Amino acid sequence: MGAQLLSGTTIAGKLTEMVKKDLKAFKSTYGVTPGLTVVIVGEDAASKVYVGRKHKACMEVGMISEVVRLPEMVSEEELLQVIDRLNADTNVHGILVQLPVPKHINSEKVLETIRPDKDVDGFHPINVGNLCVGRENLIPCTPYGVIKMLEISGIPITGKRAVIIGRSNIVGKPMAMLLLARHATVTICHSRTKDLAAVCREADILVAAIGKPEFVTKDMVKPGAVVIDVGINRVNGKLVGDVDFHNVNAVAGYLTPVPGGVGPLTIVMLLHNTLKAATLQYSK
Ligand code: NAP
Repeated sequence: MGAQLLSGTTIAGKLTEMVKKDLKAFKSTYGVTPGLTVVIVGEDAASKVYVGRKHKACMEVGMISEVVRLPEMVSEEELLQVIDRLNADTNVHGILVQLPVPKHINSEKVLETIRPDKDVDGFHPINVGNLCVGRENLIPCTPYGVIKMLEISGIPITGKRAVIIGRSNIVGKPMAMLLLARHATVTICHSRTKDLAAVCREADILVAAIGKPEFVTKDMVKPGAVVIDVGINRVNGKLVGDVDFHNVNAVAGYLTPVPGGVGPLTIVMLLHNTLKAATLQYSK
């Protein structure tokens, strides 16, 4: 018997309905429609796809969505000026700069320029700090989506051994903070971790956020473990996760597919964060 599949598409559908309900209440309380502006620099094909999906999702729930497209060679100063303009615009409630930005632009500077209460990606150091001290405010969308998936699926976190492979600011580190805040015992692994397979085998909840196709093999998974595959890799035109889905399916208790797993949750959590940002701005 295979693992129970955790369908991100189904869970995202439920979460979207919740966002729509809260959005309706927000609009009737404040008479305002929340607006998200996504800034994209350059012509990266994958980034264009992600931005297109975000725009479509906003429109579908009834939020305002604007995409600011800047050329690859835009200067850092010009990009920061665009962000300053959006920071001051009262019709813009959420700002997201699609990463990665071209190499001549300092991404840390970009993220620090976004007003923390409009930072729907949750990457501003103030929001990162809040997450670290247990004040969950604007939380990075992908790990937040994973938590929602576990909670909605009724998977207990308290007291469980959680192992995260990957220590990025976008996924691995915030994932660790969120699981820790829910009383898991958390280990973060990375490229210098010794005996990675043995560490992974201790996990009741294993989160793979590496960016290497089918990296997590059957021998790295404890029988019955919950395996969350965050990875999105393009192999011969096909989307493949960081987990060897076919073989891990035989040992895991729960497993997320790619596509249709964590991806759809990331988008819906962005909608959630945009509404949250608007609420923060109006409830002051
Ligand atoms: P990243 O910034 O490249 O980080 C990758 C992490 O994996 C790093 O911490 C790296 O360790 C670690 N790693 C690399 N090779 C390793 C190895 N051999 N053994 C152990 N650890 C290793 O990537 P990311 O932004 O976190 O993204 C990870 C994956 O998730 C990518 O496939 C990305 O496309 C996907 N993603 C999906 C969504 C979604 O919506 N589903 C959202 C964001 C990202 P070091 O720190 O030591 O280098």
